[in-house]
Amino acid sequence: MAVAPERIKAGAPVDRATHIAPSMPSHQSDWASAFLASQLPREIAHVLGGPYHVLYPEQISANVRGFHDAFQASGVDGVIYFGKKANKGACVVRACAEAGAGVDVASVGEFVGALAGGVRGANIMVTGPSKSDELLWLAARHGATVAIDGLDELARVRALSERASVDQPVSVVLRLLPDGVVSRFGMTDEEVTRAVANLPLAGPISLRGFSFHLGGYDAAPRITLARHAIDWCLCAQAAGHRADLVSIGGGFAVDYVPADAWNRFRDEYSDAWFHGSAPALNDSYPYHCAKPGPVMLREIADELASVLRRNKIQLAIEPGRALLDQAGCSVFRVQGTKTRETPTGPYDIITVDGTSLSLSEQWFNSEYLPDPTLWPPEAGESTPTTVGAATCLESDLLSRRRIPLPRRAKVGDLLIYPNTAGYQMDSNESSFHELPIPPKVVLHNTTHGLAWTLDKG
Ligand SMILES: *Cc1c(COP(=O)(O)O)cnc(C)c1O
Repeated sequence: MAVAPERIKAGAPVDRATHIAPSMPSHQSDWASAFLASQLPREIAHVLGGPYHVLYPEQISANVRGFHDAFQASGVDGVIYFGKKANKGACVVRACAEAGAGVDVASVGEFVGALAGGVRGANIMVTGPSKSDELLWLAARHGATVAIDGLDELARVRALSERASVDQPVSVVLRLLPDGVVSRFGMTDEEVTRAVANLPLAGPISLRGFSFHLGGYDAAPRITLARHAIDWCLCAQAAGHRADLVSIGGGFAVDYVPADAWNRFRDEYSDAWFHGSAPALNDSYPYHCAKPGPVMLREIADELASVLRRNKIQLAIEPGRALLDQAGCSVFRVQGTKTRETPTGPYDIITVDGTSLSLSEQWFNSEYLPDPTLWPPEAGESTPTTVGAATCLESDLLSRRRIPLPRRAKVGDLLIYPNTAGYQMDSNESSFHELPIPPKVVLHNTTHGLAWTLDKG
C-alpha cells in the first residue's frame, strides 16, 4: 500500500500523488518506435475510421528464431508449436510457417486457419479437452498429432481413425495431469498406465509421447514434470511404442516493463490509484520477468539435454504469448474527455472509440499495465488519466488506473497500447453494441520504410 499504517496513525497528510498510478513504461522494439515516429498511426486511423490493431510478423519470425537458438545452444532436438489462441491474425500463422514453427490448435477454425497459413498437418498439434469428432477427423486426415485428454477420447480416436481411411496411424501424445495440481485437463498416472497397456502396437494409433501444460511461469515445475514425462516415454518404449516426444506446453513469460517499474507497482500497490474499484493485484500478470521466453527454455533444455539426447527424445514447446512478444500494438482514437476531482487532485476520464474487449486483460479482474502512448507527442503537463470504452457499461474501462500521461489528451488524439499481440488484442473481441471488431493491420519493412496492408484473416 502506498500509505504505511504508521503514517495514517500519526495523522500525516495523505501523499498528494496517491490518486495517480505510477508509470509503467513498456519495452519497445525498433519497428514500434519507427511506427510511432511516422505519420502512419494517423493515416491508418483516417483510412479505417475506427480502432485497429497492428501486427509486425517479422518480429514473430525473430521470436521463433530465439526459441530455436535456445534449443540449439542446449543441444536439444526441439520443436515449436505456436499456441494459436493467443492471436487470430492470419499473418501470425503465416509467419510461423515461414519460420519453421508448427501450430497448436484446439478447434476446427484454428485447424483450418493453420492449414490456410501454410502450416502442414504434420506440424499441427491438437490440444484441448474432449475434442469434437470433426476436429479429430481433420487431425487424422492431415497427419496432425492429437494430445489425448482422457481415456474416452482415446477410444473415440481409435474408432474414428479406423474409419478415416488414412494410410498412416494417428499420432497421439497423452496429456498428463500433474500430481497435486487441481485441473480439469489431462490424465492421472493410473489412466495413463491403462492407456499405454491397452494400445496395440500396430493399430490405428501411434503413441508419439506425452505432454502437459502448466499454469505459472517457472522453469522448476516444468523440469520436474518433463522428467516424469521422459520416464513415461521410456516405459512406453520398453513396451514397444515409439514414444519419443515430450511436450512441455506453454507458459513462457513475456517481459513487458523494467524490473523497477513492476516492483514499485507491486510493492506500493494502492486502491487509490484507480477510478472505481481496483483490480486484484493477485490476479495480475507478472509484467516484469527476469527469464522471459527463450531464457527459460534454455534453463529447462540445459537441465534435460543429456537424458533427452541419450534416449533420442524430442522436446516440444507450445508458446503462445511469448512468440508474440513485441509483435503488435492497438490503436484507439480519443473521442471525449472530462475532468473529475478527488481529495488529492483532479484527473481526466477519456473515452476512446473501442472497448476493453479489444484489451482482454480487463476481463480477468486484472488490468493491462504497460502504459499507452498518447499520440502525437506534444509538450504539455502530466495528467492522470483513466481510459473508458465507448459503451454503456460502467465497468468497461481499458485502464481503470489513472495513468500519468505526459500531457492532457484531447479529442482526435490517438492512444496506442504497446505489445498487445499476445492475448490482449483479440481473444475476447465481440461486436458488443454493434461496434465493428477492429481490423488488423500488417506492417512490413520495405526499402521505403514501413508499409501496411490489412490482415487476410
Ligand atoms: C494456452 C495454451 C498454450 C499457450 O500458453 P501461453 O501461456 O500463451 O504460452 C499452450 N498449450 C496449451 C495446451 C494451452 O492451452
